[in-house]
Amino acid sequence: MFNLVIFGAPGSGKGTQSDRIIDEYGLYHISTGELLRDQINKGTKLGKIADAYISKGQLIPDKLMVDILAQELDKNALTSKGVIFDGFPRTIEQAKALKEMLAKRGSKVHAVVGLEVDEDELVDRLLKRGQQSGRSDDNLETINKRLDVYHSTTRPLKEYYTTEQKYHAINGTGSIDEIFDKVKKTIDSHPEAPKRATK
Ligand code: AMP
Repeated sequence: MFNLVIFGAPGSGKGTQSDRIIDEYGLYHISTGELLRDQINKGTKLGKIADAYISKGQLIPDKLMVDILAQELDKNALTSKGVIFDGFPRTIEQAKALKEMLAKRGSKVHAVVGLEVDEDELVDRLLKRGQQSGRSDDNLETINKRLDVYHSTTRPLKEYYTTEQKYHAINGTGSIDEIFDKVKKTIDSHPEAPKRATK
């Protein structure tokens, strides 16, 4: 297995680049944001709990999030070539839980790709996405709150994974193709990188 964390602020392009990575490397995609929105759309009990946090731009509590992720991991991911973790981990606690969870299953995080984008550009992108996405959290007030949470709680993971020698910074501005070229170079430079569909 080759497990990759795609990391960055809201609006940094994690979902877009994840789609390209799946096509090229055949990895299994786990987006915690999508998992939660799916529960909200289905109107489940978990969806109702998640909605209360998401619509305020807050993070879902670690314990709940880690349990959801463990279930998803055991459902399909372990039979795959590897996993892209998109939107997880978002706290140091979650990163430690992920390490433990993967170790128990005989694996690890191989690399972290950090998409780095200026704040003004992030807000711009999220407001534009909000015009089409219908997401309850893509409005200016909630965007600002999410960016605050990113800076205070999620960004310290950059240091965490740098210490683990896994963090690769990528400039996340430019065209989707230009950014993906850099992502591919980063993945391919890893000794355990999966084979690409095109080369
Ligand atoms: P995303 O689609 O990744 O932007 O996530 C949307 C929202 O879902 C976030 O603003 C959080 O409220 C919640 N969420 C997604 N992933 C996590 C996570 N790993 N931990 C806590 N909350 C999360």
